[in-house]
Amino acid sequence: MHGSVTTIQRNGLKVHTYAAPEAGWVVNTHIIELASQLLVVDAQYTLDFAEEVVAFAATLNKPITRLYVTHYHPDHLLGAAAFGLPIHGLAEVARKIDQVGDRVAGEERAKVGDRIPDHAERISEIVQEGEERIDGTLLRHVALRHAETADALVIALPEHDILITQDLLYHQVHVFVGELAFESWRAALSTFSTLNFGTLLPGHGNPGDAALWTHMRDYLDVAERTWKTSDGAEAFHRQMVALFPDHRGARLLQHEGRFLYK
Ligand SMILES: [Zn+2]
Repeated sequence: MHGSVTTIQRNGLKVHTYAAPEAGWVVNTHIIELASQLLVVDAQYTLDFAEEVVAFAATLNKPITRLYVTHYHPDHLLGAAAFGLPIHGLAEVARKIDQVGDRVAGEERAKVGDRIPDHAERISEIVQEGEERIDGTLLRHVALRHAETADALVIALPEHDILITQDLLYHQVHVFVGELAFESWRAALSTFSTLNFGTLLPGHGNPGDAALWTHMRDYLDVAERTWKTSDGAEAFHRQMVALFPDHRGARLLQHEGRFLYK
């Protein structure tokens, strides 16, 4: 396996986090292990890494009954075909994928090759905000607006003190800031931090605790300043790598270059 799996357990519930290697942008797929079934959050970038998730899930001997895609970015969406399941997501995210998903797939396939499909899978099961009990476990679906992207799904497991933030938080991984929503993203960090969840599962990087809120805010402050003072994507990239030498995911800096200096 090229990726790695970390398992956390809180109040009797296990969540397995598959983290892709650098070639897969260090993106996380979380597998919520319920009593008799698995819920999977996000689908990976390439089919290869998605297939690793499927193979790991098979070792748990429970069926995957739900695949969520939290937002339309390629690293969370393009591996979806490997699961062969209907995709669950917010209505706004479904619309966005309908509009741009195939173009995003084509762009990434042009860079990476045929382990990226030539079209994006679509969301067919619309997730409503609110609470739902599945297999004895309470899930809360929350819409996140105007942070890393315009619309994204956050999933809380309130009985287990777990918040699956996906790309609201990154943990020691370079952050995609290409949508340039620094101010509203910081506001979202404040709002979600007051929910007081003890275990945070980010979209990139290891599971962490409440310290991630501050780290993320600091990274955004530095990124915004560096973006404003750099004269192009290359300088931005070079400075961010120098400022955060321990961070993984430099490919995310490469990916965002064309969005930062249009
Ligand atoms: Zn991501």
